[in-house]
Amino acid sequence: MQPLYMQDSYLREFTSKVKSVKDNKFIVLEQTAFYPNSGGQPNDTGIIKKDNQEFKVIFVGKFDSQISHEVDQEGLKEGDEVTGIIDWDRRYKLMRMHSAAHVMSAVLYQETGALITGNQLDTEKSRIDFNLENFDREKLQEFIQKANEVIKQNLNINVKFMPRQEVEKDPSLQKLAKGLPPGIETFRIIEIENFDIQADGGTHVKNTQEIGEIEFLKAENKGAQRRRVYFKLK
Ligand SMILES: [Zn+2]
Repeated sequence: MQPLYMQDSYLREFTSKVKSVKDNKFIVLEQTAFYPNSGGQPNDTGIIKKDNQEFKVIFVGKFDSQISHEVDQEGLKEGDEVTGIIDWDRRYKLMRMHSAAHVMSAVLYQETGALITGNQLDTEKSRIDFNLENFDREKLQEFIQKANEVIKQNLNINVKFMPRQEVEKDPSLQKLAKGLPPGIETFRIIEIENFDIQADGGTHVKNTQEIGEIEFLKAENKGAQRRRVYFKLK
């Protein structure tokens, strides 16, 4: 089953049954809205509640294509009815960061054809690496200015699904230099209306106005394949 955040990034609370428990603290649920650490977006944290007992979710990862929640204490069992509650403050910051990263990478792609070679989002500051031909700090700052102009247009951000064949036909859907991951037949697409469309598994805000403003922090030259840009949100 598809994780709940794939359809609705704004879902903060959900109920589920515990599907399995490993080593007393790795919990797989029948359905989840917790985002696992992947694609440069850090995992959600929060709590899993059973009756009045609260288990802190300290890490969420994807293992053997299952989302596993690491909790801070023993006590959950297969078949338990639980409520999952996401730390919304953290998640919402990451959604804004992820959408900001898409606007920036779309500007760089449109202006230079550069693709993303790495990224690490976080709540306070994030970085993206591009395979950019020339390393030019001023130019990079200019691109961020352009990204901020796009953000100010209050563009809607939509979630769509598309078969692999169609995604393969359209190179503009693929902003990652490493290409499409193998074994996936239906891709989730994040569309910033009239501006950008990317295959993506992350969580995003509904409209660019929620991003706020991107602030350039610094740029590092780690070679042609890794022109690194650090930014935060205001
Ligand atoms: Zn993304």
